[in-house]
Amino acid sequence: MTDFTMQKDADGVAIITWDVPGKSMNVLSLDGAATLNGLIDDALADASVKGVVITSGKKDFAGGMDLNVIAGMKAGGAQGVFDGVMTLHHLLRKIELAGMDPKTKKGGKPVATALPGTALGIGLELPLATHRIFAADNPKAKIGLPEIMVGIFPGAGGTTRLTRKLGAMMAAPFLLEGKLSDPSKAKSGGLIDEVVADPVEAARAWVLQATGADLVKPWDAKGYKMPGGEPYHPAGFMTFVGASAMVHGKTLGVYPAAKALLSAVYEGALVPFDTALKIEARWFTNVLMNPSSSAMIRSLFINKEALEKGANRPEAPDQTVKKVGILGAGMMGAGIAYVSAMAGIEVVLIDAAQDAAERGKAYSTALLDKAISRRKSTEEKKAEVLARITPTTDYAALAGCDLVVEAVFEDPAVKADVTKRAEAAMPEDAIFATNTSTLPISGLAKASSRPAQYIGIHFFSPVDKMMLVEIIKGKETGPRAVAKALDFVRQIRKTPIVVNDARFFYANRCIIPYINEGIRMVAEGVSPTLIENAAKMMGMPLGPLQLVDEISIDLGIKIAKATKAAMGDAYPDAAVDAVIFKLAEQGRMGRKSKSGFYDYDEAGKRQGFWSGLSTEWPEAETQPELTDIQHRLMFIQSLEAVRALEEGVLEDIREGDVGAILGWGFAPWTGGPFGWLDMLGAPRSVAITEDLTARFGDRFATPQMLRDMAAKGASFYPGAGSKAA
Ligand code: NAD
Repeated sequence: MTDFTMQKDADGVAIITWDVPGKSMNVLSLDGAATLNGLIDDALADASVKGVVITSGKKDFAGGMDLNVIAGMKAGGAQGVFDGVMTLHHLLRKIELAGMDPKTKKGGKPVATALPGTALGIGLELPLATHRIFAADNPKAKIGLPEIMVGIFPGAGGTTRLTRKLGAMMAAPFLLEGKLSDPSKAKSGGLIDEVVADPVEAARAWVLQATGADLVKPWDAKGYKMPGGEPYHPAGFMTFVGASAMVHGKTLGVYPAAKALLSAVYEGALVPFDTALKIEARWFTNVLMNPSSSAMIRSLFINKEALEKGANRPEAPDQTVKKVGILGAGMMGAGIAYVSAMAGIEVVLIDAAQDAAERGKAYSTALLDKAISRRKSTEEKKAEVLARITPTTDYAALAGCDLVVEAVFEDPAVKADVTKRAEAAMPEDAIFATNTSTLPISGLAKASSRPAQYIGIHFFSPVDKMMLVEIIKGKETGPRAVAKALDFVRQIRKTPIVVNDARFFYANRCIIPYINEGIRMVAEGVSPTLIENAAKMMGMPLGPLQLVDEISIDLGIKIAKATKAAMGDAYPDAAVDAVIFKLAEQGRMGRKSKSGFYDYDEAGKRQGFWSGLSTEWPEAETQPELTDIQHRLMFIQSLEAVRALEEGVLEDIREGDVGAILGWGFAPWTGGPFGWLDMLGAPRSVAITEDLTARFGDRFATPQMLRDMAAKGASFYPGAGSKAA
């Protein structure tokens, strides 16, 4: 059994079928590439073969390169990576030139690709090297080059070919943003050639009529000019200068892949095609050797997928949810109802009053209408989804629910009351979950008569957009409840992490200190601009002050009050409270009140900082070093992650890293807080935190775990005791 097989039909067309044994989606391995290389050699050498069609034996064409292989290539060092990439270039170049005369570029056998469905990464780079691409009219298919999303860039010729095919400007969204398109958009965007009902048949017919035709690619033909202009052409100059500025503006230089991609495109545009491929391979090697790419591949691909597939699921029979009851049809309940109904689950949406329940359902109507207006959904689909949601006040409707999720007010008494009422109506063996964001699960479980079936399923807002779900085990939560929660999260296609019960669980525990550290600096007289930029230049999507404006100042105050009540004299954040209470006194509640740390215009668009900031907390004459601010903002989050691990709240560092990136946007280029600490190394992390503790206080105290790691020369990922990949 090999990944590629070839069959010659009666007309002399060789059909190469990609069908990796034992996988639902094709991915390219080095062995697979070698097999394909052999088949192409055979087809080109066989006089009875007129041309080739490359297709897939699966419903999709390919998901990309096997990222585990990419991770493995690094073992051979930079030379190993470069040689591996050049092998792929030679294979794709062989397909592209297809036996043409090297001088006249005449002759050669036509090679077409037939894509039945999704074609990503190398799954598109391979077709781009063929002479014509046919895709099935399959609106579910995704076509594109998403490499940049995991910290690399298209390195098997995709960067060079697409730039020459479309021009730098038109190729930019596909290369720099990893934009994916359905087949018809891929055709109008110039990625593929034709959308047809039967791509294999269409490709076969094309191959037969193309025998003997001129197959030379524009970039191999005499007089080729890059669309939109080369770098020293007046129009091209504008594109290239603009692109550099735009990319730097967006990434602030944090993402090595974006910068390397631009370099490959720019330098490649100045030289002949084959040299451009070598340049692309060099930059690709450069990016692959940067620790950021392995950290991103590890967290955003390998470990994220492992968690989604149930890496930490306890043994239990299938817990697929068929009917879910949702208590509370407010912001969160309405969102949970929408994602559940979208996943094909029957939903009973309960609120105290019928009109509140109806409003909760209307949220789904609004989201579906928006999707229809953007041609992402249809009237039939909308009717189907809405028919699954029953808004009611009647708990008897919970009969037959195998899961109930509670999202009523954040008040233990209200939660206890609805828990009792629901348990009286739902089946004996159903699981009950709370979406509380701050109340300990074990405490809430006291209201339940079946605490083994009681669990926390913590969604983030807005539910339809946020990909992380935090599952929290209370003291008495049993394994079937955990399995149920994980199976549910899988159904709604989100990424789960499973943590133990503790104040603020995991994500909020880390993000609150980040916000507080930013606010504390305002009180110290650090320039707000410096604070926000320092955070963004470390790769945080939002500075701490913008983040608290988004979340709302009053929520911050609520949390501060509750934390103070729980901690008493040990409460460490009085300096932070002084700032947010002052903002609240003036009615500045954040974006929702169109005033917070920032000013907003009438339409709610963020403007500059509120002028009152500099009068209330004047900027100090000497400002701290940028690195100092960055260390404070990064360590305050990462140390909390380490403490969560030390205390057993987190059981698996993979969950800590994936959860940090998806939950609160922890600088993705690092692969997460543990990935970041590994990049620094334990000895350096210890030294920095000791210095921060001496200057700023015990919140930076070095965790014993880091000290032990430094003493042993250990790191989180290859380290003993971790379940890391
Ligand atoms: P919300 O105020 O928008 O909605 C709460 C809903 O519960 C309201 O519609 C209310 O009418 C209903 N309700 C109250 N008492 C009820 C009762 N006895 N029976 C039935 N329905 C009742 O609040 P929300 O923001 O959706 O938050 C709900 C829960 O989710 C809270 O526990 C909150 O901490 C948690 N949470 C919120 C967020 C967030 O960002 N807002 C994020 C994660 C978790």
